[in-house]
Amino acid sequence: MSEIKILNSGEKFAHASVGSLHDFEGKQFVKDATGATSCEISFGTLSKGESIPFFHSHKGNEENYIILSGSGKFQVNDDVFDVAEGSVVRVATNCDRNIKCTSDEKMCYICIQAKEGSLEGYTMTDAEITQRESLL
Ligand code: ZN
Repeated sequence: MSEIKILNSGEKFAHASVGSLHDFEGKQFVKDATGATSCEISFGTLSKGESIPFFHSHKGNEENYIILSGSGKFQVNDDVFDVAEGSVVRVATNCDRNIKCTSDEKMCYICIQAKEGSLEGYTMTDAEITQRESLL
């Protein structure tokens, strides 16, 4: 099982890392390390033939799964479809979901859960261009 490390933080940010995704194993939730208030993010890995050991459903949160490596099958209730590196799957509330790795390459994915229907502004309806001097 990999662990998350808090690398640095300030008044307005927190920076944590699970390290190299190539070496990452298991499941790691991120919210407590970063102090996120709008969503929970987790990293997960599955090896060939492995699926999450249980189906689950969420009452208030939708989930967005982002497949970073590997490929396999995704099931939502009785619908099954293929997923692969680059896939993004949104799953609504009140339905069962699971994911299975079928590739020789391990499947690494990120799951972001946030309150369904909570997104109001985004990109340029929420952001504004500012004039700070770059220190990068
Ligand atoms: Zn979930």
